[in-house]
Amino acid sequence: MKKIAILGSTGSIGTQTVDILPSIDAEVVALTTNRRIDLLEEQARALYPKMVCAFDEAAARDLKVKLADTGIRVLSGMDGLTACAAESGADIVVTAVVGMVGLLPTLAAIDAGKDIALANKETLVCAGELVMRAAREKGVKILPVDSEHSAIFQCAQAAHGNPLAKIILTASGGPFFGKTAAEMRSVTREQALAHPNWSMGAKITIDSATMMNKGLELIEAMWLYDMPPEDIEIVIHRESIVHSAVEFADGAMLAQLGLPDMRLPIQYALTYPARVPCKVPRLSLAEAAKLTFYAPDYEAFPALNLARQAAAQKGDRGAVLNGANEAAVGLFLEGRIGFAEIAERVAYALDAIAYRSSVTLDEVLEADRAAREIVLA
Ligand code: NDP
Ligand code: MG
Repeated sequence: MKKIAILGSTGSIGTQTVDILPSIDAEVVALTTNRRIDLLEEQARALYPKMVCAFDEAAARDLKVKLADTGIRVLSGMDGLTACAAESGADIVVTAVVGMVGLLPTLAAIDAGKDIALANKETLVCAGELVMRAAREKGVKILPVDSEHSAIFQCAQAAHGNPLAKIILTASGGPFFGKTAAEMRSVTREQALAHPNWSMGAKITIDSATMMNKGLELIEAMWLYDMPPEDIEIVIHRESIVHSAVEFADGAMLAQLGLPDMRLPIQYALTYPARVPCKVPRLSLAEAAKLTFYAPDYEAFPALNLARQAAAQKGDRGAVLNGANEAAVGLFLEGRIGFAEIAERVAYALDAIAYRSSVTLDEVLEADRAAREIVLA
């Protein structure tokens, strides 16, 4: 039986992970939340993990009272999150927290020899080089949960040692597909939060609307598959049925298809290399009838260019791009800046912070801090 720690178990990916547990042979050893302690209590009473963490200190105090009769250890803060990742006895850690707060626990889990089912893309965007190196050194697997990267991973299994010539990363285009840059200046928070195909946490939903999400995924794919960013093509695919594709030297292109449902990539990351029945609805190609593809509009979605540039430059650019974006999305969600200002503030931070071509972990944390400070100033 596989022992699983779920970081961010109360979020969109976290709850869907809990949802597929009955399909797989697994024991949950740790669960974490930031503040949603009612749901965490419910999950803890159902799954009986060894330890849980509420990142927020006050929430952790309340959770301790709630779980006093259970004998489950209740932790808090970054130490608690890291302990759940590295010291809970897990074989595999699902990293489903949102934001670069996932970086240190992911590194701790790798250091402790745990495989990673990686949903938390910000970790690879900030510190892809450090994370992938640590994983290689420790011989741990980084199994992608992000649907596009899972699709690439699934297609790449047909490679049999042949290199991938190209990755084709599909994007739904989000709620503002077809709008011009000028039209997007007046969109509201509610419009930006209404994703056409996927129901996700607020931060990634805004990232999908700006298309920064696809930019972050480009950087994620670059690190996961050791692929030059210029060989990663982004294609808009409104139906979200082709989850991504790979191309080989002979021109053959392989894709993975399915209805948009995260439970399949989550489950596959946890059962790999086995495939077991999954409760997602099945795709009927005849019902889907038509699949459409378009080139992205780089002018209307400047975040894509910012991410492409950061991917090409590497060094500290991923950490600056991500830190600035997290801060700017936070401001937008609080109603303090307009939609177009998200990418503008990220661009400003990338300009303002001097480029470092290679970074240690401390320098990644410093780049992240500096980027946030500039955006919030
Ligand atoms: P959610 O916002 O729904 O959930 C995030 C989880 O992390 C919650 O458990 C939340 O706790 C916890 N959390 C939030 N802030 C902190 C913090 N500062 N410290 C510790 N824990 C925290 O996010 P999603 O599930 O949508 O996304 C999670 C990750 O997966 C992101 O990196 C996202 O990009 C990626 N991803 C998500 C997809 C999706 O379909 N949702 C698809 C592909 C990738 P609380 O409940 O208290 O807020
Ligand atoms: Mg994705």
